[in-house]
Amino acid sequence: MARVYNFSAGPSMLPEQVLKTAAAEMLDYKGSGQSVMEMSHRSKWFDDIIKEAEALMRELYKIPDNYKVLFLQGGASAQFSAIPLNFMNGSGKADYIITGQWAKKAFQEAQKYGDVKAVASSADKTFSYIPKTKAEDFREDADYVYICMNNTIYGTVYKELPPVGDKVLIADVSSCALSEPLDISKFGMVYFGAQKNVAPAGLVVAIIREDLLGNARDITPVMMNYKIQADAESLYNTPPCYTIYICKLVLEWLKANGGLDAMKERNEKKAKLLYDFLDNSKMFRGTVVPEDRSLMNVPFVTDDDELNAKFVKEATEAGLVNLKGHRTVGGMRASIYNAMPYEGVEKLVEFMAEFEKANS
Ligand SMILES: *Cc1c(COP(=O)(O)O)cnc(C)c1O
Repeated sequence: MARVYNFSAGPSMLPEQVLKTAAAEMLDYKGSGQSVMEMSHRSKWFDDIIKEAEALMRELYKIPDNYKVLFLQGGASAQFSAIPLNFMNGSGKADYIITGQWAKKAFQEAQKYGDVKAVASSADKTFSYIPKTKAEDFREDADYVYICMNNTIYGTVYKELPPVGDKVLIADVSSCALSEPLDISKFGMVYFGAQKNVAPAGLVVAIIREDLLGNARDITPVMMNYKIQADAESLYNTPPCYTIYICKLVLEWLKANGGLDAMKERNEKKAKLLYDFLDNSKMFRGTVVPEDRSLMNVPFVTDDDELNAKFVKEATEAGLVNLKGHRTVGGMRASIYNAMPYEGVEKLVEFMAEFEKANS
């Protein structure tokens, strides 16, 4: 069977080369006589895998030495609780910018633990832009400022970080992880659920500045205590071994394909093809203000719900799958992560042009 072009927001496409390598190594990982799925997480084999994954992550993201790289579970959503438990430990205040559903969920969860303020929001226009903030919007004694870097559902992205000064900035980068270079030193913590751009579901990678560790509240569940996870080198309990292995293969693929600079160039080229089409179409249009458009998630609509449904159905039949927009916004959304080849976006744009011609 031919593989489809999968535009899902997550879990999403993985590089074909990664799947082939995983298939070839399925029954016998490098002469071990076992699949990685079957191995002890304390074995030399797995130790090499997780160490190599961390080393590649550090190399690709140029992570400074004073940051820990953790491989965690519970999804990005578990970090919504872990972040206040670990870091809301000075004034007990934290400032959040609400740019969509994921930031809002993180904000709501943090409210259980302290004095949480929404300093800006783009809810007034269905999160179709990134709200501007000024230094004085943030509380002087906030323990941290929280943002969601790329808004998977609404298709906006921060092109410039908010002016938080020397306050601790924490970012959910789940849907733009490893899609372009990122200056980690600007953050106290960045984290991502792997299933958007890096690996199958089940893994969260957290990159945390060391000096922030060690002040978690006493009630923090042990599995959510970043210091304990860091001291145990992510092996406090059984980690998601196979997902970490696929993550390692994806990182190898990224490195072999030129690293994050090359990935950025590729992603810009793919996104431009689609946005240019949307800007010139009479039937389809993007829903986000041009200056805040994501390279990863591209929502678009026609002005007719029936036409949207017809488009999604016919696209699926043509092997362009998972283009239906998020249930909260409707319309369409094309997620074009690292693993989506340029040809996939070309096929999509050709299909949209044909559809427009046939239906107008
Ligand atoms: C998907 C997503 C989440 C939720 O991830 P889970 O791993 O399912 O908890 C959080 N934040 C962003 C930006 C996402 O795209």
